[in-house]
Amino acid sequence: MHRPPGFPAGRPCAIDGSRSAGGSGLAEDAESIEPKRRRFRLAAVLPLAGALAIAAVVAFVAYRAVFELSLSGTRANASHRLDLYAASFEREIGKYASYPYVMALDGSILALLANPTDSLLRYRADSYLEALNDRIGTLDVFLLDKTGRVIASSNWNKWDSFVGRDLSYRPYYQNAGVGRVTRFYGIGTTNRQPGYFLATAISRGNDTLGIGVVKVSLEQLERSWASAESPAILSDEHGVVVLSSVPAWKYGTLVALDEKARREIAEAQQYNDRPLAPIGLSTLRQLDDGTRIVRLPGAAGSDSSFSTEGLFLAESRAMPETPWTLTVFTDLSEMDDLARLWAALAGLGSLLCLGLLAVYRQRRRHLREILAARAALQRAHDHLESQVADRTAALSSANERLREEVEERERAERTLRDAQSGLVQASKLASLGQLSAGIAHELNQPLAALVTLSGNAVRFLERGEFDTVRGNLERVRPLVERMGNLTGELKSFARKSSGEPQRVGLRKLIDDVLFLLNHRLTRGGVAVTIDIDGGDIELWCDANRFEQVLLNLIGNAVDAMEGQDDQRIHLSARLEGDFARIDIRDSGPGLPPERLAHMFEPFFTTKAPGVGLGLGLTISAGIIRDFGGELVASNAEGGGAVFSMTIPIGAGEAT
Ligand code: ADP
Repeated sequence: MHRPPGFPAGRPCAIDGSRSAGGSGLAEDAESIEPKRRRFRLAAVLPLAGALAIAAVVAFVAYRAVFELSLSGTRANASHRLDLYAASFEREIGKYASYPYVMALDGSILALLANPTDSLLRYRADSYLEALNDRIGTLDVFLLDKTGRVIASSNWNKWDSFVGRDLSYRPYYQNAGVGRVTRFYGIGTTNRQPGYFLATAISRGNDTLGIGVVKVSLEQLERSWASAESPAILSDEHGVVVLSSVPAWKYGTLVALDEKARREIAEAQQYNDRPLAPIGLSTLRQLDDGTRIVRLPGAAGSDSSFSTEGLFLAESRAMPETPWTLTVFTDLSEMDDLARLWAALAGLGSLLCLGLLAVYRQRRRHLREILAARAALQRAHDHLESQVADRTAALSSANERLREEVEERERAERTLRDAQSGLVQASKLASLGQLSAGIAHELNQPLAALVTLSGNAVRFLERGEFDTVRGNLERVRPLVERMGNLTGELKSFARKSSGEPQRVGLRKLIDDVLFLLNHRLTRGGVAVTIDIDGGDIELWCDANRFEQVLLNLIGNAVDAMEGQDDQRIHLSARLEGDFARIDIRDSGPGLPPERLAHMFEPFFTTKAPGVGLGLGLTISAGIIRDFGGELVASNAEGGGAVFSMTIPIGAGEAT
């Protein structure tokens, strides 16, 4: 989507006149969006960071708990193993502990000590020591005089013979005492062979005559350690490893040696020129019972059956009668792995729990929102219900009012209809009034004839002219019938119509009306012509009311032509679809425009007061409209007025 430069992304931009001051509104928006975004990011990241922190703490606690739990069992094993190692060491050394004493028991030794320069005595002592060495399986057995010089040795006749060497710098010479064995580990200065030295002073009375020394090899012990299941080391008072199940660590140190220690070692020529570098052991934790958790560096080229790298439990013990310390290492890597596994599981489990908790809280919040929405919906529904009830009540009352109004209207309509029908009747009676003079004239003629005929009849009867009397009386009958017809027509016209439509023949209706108007027509000499298509047309209307319309229209035509020489009325009718079209045309003056405009209005009349009411056309048009037709007026082409009407035909309707 194209976005104009400067519009913030992800937010619809409203075109608002209030912000139109040089686009500063947009700039403010951009400024306020950034902190919001930061807050939003913080709100998303904080719980995650918190959860990770909790998981890390849980993992750490689980690691420590599992580690400590496993450690107690491991400690017992380590302690037991240390006992075994210590015992094997003691046993190995203990075998040789008495041999320095044994030397003092031999006469050749004592004799040589008493007379050290005697070469025969020296030979005897050398031979003895050689035989003893062979017998007890030690590396060397030799004798020092009280100055620390070797005066006899088991290797007296070998290239590396100690005889004549001054070993007064060796601690076993310096510390040797009567009745006790001094122990020392060192590398031979002559043959560079490492060995374990056991020495004791040989004395007579209070005089120390010399020192008896046995040098023992610890290789076998070392070999047995190498095949053990975990590393073990023996370190001297300076921390130099003198014996180790890992060959690479031998003559390494547990801690870096300080100057004093290096000097002492150098003075005793204990390890010759060995570099005595630290083996790289680091103590991680000191435990309550003196054991330590350490990390071992591993040993290059080690072909031991055990691991020499990683976490170990180090348990040490000072070896009795020596300044040495035996340390046994127990591999903790499996334990460490197990604790790590548990830590990982606990961490993941806590993350899972926190996740579930978050989901649960989210669901609860969602549920609360749904409930709130539902409550709001219910409130809206209730509100709507009450509104609907109010509106229904208002509607009912409006309906009631409407019904009352309808009734009122119906009443008014009824009244109007009654009034109209009264008006129609009144107009009809008015027409009758207009006809009355003519009717009276129409009745007078037969009545006068009747009077004459009856008077003549009496005279002819007195003269005995019975045939003439009969002739007169026979002429009476049609006169009476004509009078009866006239009064009958009058009666039928004057009656109040029912208003119900029925099928009626147009021709008869025209004849009836012309009969009523006969006097007026003949008096004015009006020529009436009738032209009905097909001879007659059946109409669907109220005959009485239609007669009233015809009477009005023909009467108006007669009025309009009054006084003219040429008075003609032409009635024509034809079918137009479902209607009959009837035209009444006269030869009168026609309809000027101002008359045409107002002619159908009530009380419009051009006739003299008392002659016309001005209701004839209004009522006629109303009657035709009631039939479903139409009444219009116009001027005929050759002069005169034409009133045209359409009336539904009665075809197909039952009479
Ligand atoms: P009234 O006959 O009482 O005057 P109408 O409503 O019948 O009332 O007629 C209204 C007027 O229409 C008449 O006064 C007359 O001026 C005019 N009028 C009606 N018929 C004709 C006609 N055939 N020719 C000329 N004018 C007519």
